[in-house]
Amino acid sequence: MAGKTSERLWFEHGLLPSGWASGVEITISDGTIEEISTGVMPPSGGVRGRTVLPGLPNLHSHAFQRAMSGLTEVRGNSQDSFWSWRSLLYQFASRIRPEDIHAITAMAYAEMLEAGFTRVCEFHYLHNAPDGGRYDDPAEMAGQVIRAADDAGMGLTLLPVFYAHAGFGGQPLAEEQKRFGNDAGSFARLLEAVGQHTANQTDFVLGIAPHSLRAVTPDELGELILLDKGGPIHIHIAEQVKEVQDCLAWSGARPVDWLLHNAPVDGRWCLVHATHTDDRELHRIAKSGAVAGLCPVTEANLGDGIFDARAYISYGGHYGVGTDSNVSISASDELRMLEYSQRFKTLSRNVMAGEGYASTGRALFEGALAGGGRAAGIPVGLAPGNPADLVALSEADLPEAAIGGDRLLDAWVFRGKSNVVSDVWRRGRHTVKGGQHIHRAGIEARYRAVLEALIS
Ligand SMILES: [Zn+2]
Repeated sequence: MAGKTSERLWFEHGLLPSGWASGVEITISDGTIEEISTGVMPPSGGVRGRTVLPGLPNLHSHAFQRAMSGLTEVRGNSQDSFWSWRSLLYQFASRIRPEDIHAITAMAYAEMLEAGFTRVCEFHYLHNAPDGGRYDDPAEMAGQVIRAADDAGMGLTLLPVFYAHAGFGGQPLAEEQKRFGNDAGSFARLLEAVGQHTANQTDFVLGIAPHSLRAVTPDELGELILLDKGGPIHIHIAEQVKEVQDCLAWSGARPVDWLLHNAPVDGRWCLVHATHTDDRELHRIAKSGAVAGLCPVTEANLGDGIFDARAYISYGGHYGVGTDSNVSISASDELRMLEYSQRFKTLSRNVMAGEGYASTGRALFEGALAGGGRAAGIPVGLAPGNPADLVALSEADLPEAAIGGDRLLDAWVFRGKSNVVSDVWRRGRHTVKGGQHIHRAGIEARYRAVLEALIS
């Protein structure tokens, strides 16, 4: 058995739960932060950096969709929308084999680490063989995602998705959705089979994800909740106007309204998108303790609409950000798009700063950190006992790194330079060095080979 490993890192500035500190020395032992001291003089040797931040959780991802990035920006017809995009997605998904999902996911996770995300909530629904038949191992595809997270060194909260119907009222799955399908029994077997793939995982978290109210009947939702063992519960909700209309036609209630009346929604839940919610629904999400899972870049890309974050944060609502379709993978892009969407909507500036924050960058970062941790089911922040998930920003690309403080976060979020993350430690492992994932070459070569075959 390997002995206990211990390491000390020193940074000029660091963002701690109590705020900014200088001369920050972090002692890491077996992947966990053992101790943090401040006001420490720089060491003569060892690792030193300018500014350290806690790693951000990415609360919503469909990693395989990374391979479609850039392939759907062609106007297909006069009504190009989320729904026409989804048809392309289904065609693409039908070709992905287990080894493909491994290569694509490893690439997406390496890029997430390079962008400053140290954990991902993977909303995984590609379970079955292309013809809809079951693999011998129900967790064949999920196991590839777990292996990819391991290869990239990414923290994983896996959310196996329950997807059984094509629309409200228990409509049968369409042919092209059969890869996603389960019933309650096969889903229970899938959850159990995931355990066979997680023996080496130190801080793996398993949750569940009823796909949406479109895809799950009320009875199934009740059964699913019983299968959950205390992990996070994520659901897509109210992403589309049509979805709200269909839900109203089916039940007489709006989706968020229906969910809050019919499920025990609390702090373990993440309501992904929640884009089309009225004021009363926003207030009740905030009161429930659930996290609104905002994916501003994907929501912009798909023409979904704009979440009313100004009202929501005024009610004390929790939120985090996710890269969802992975059309781009960037923590700063998500945070910037979130703020800018609110500026478009409210015709005002610095909306997400809300009460008590002078800096919008700081408010966005800390909001996404806390909400992301809650949605991922993990402790976050630079504090003893937490996983040593650290992100250092590049002094060369971000002169503010020399100054530290909120100005640094504002510059990172708003200046729009593509990547200013220089180094990332994930559970104490130095995974990104000089802006590059340590295994990028091999991961990228495998990804390119798969991509060429898929799009040829
Ligand atoms: Zn999604």
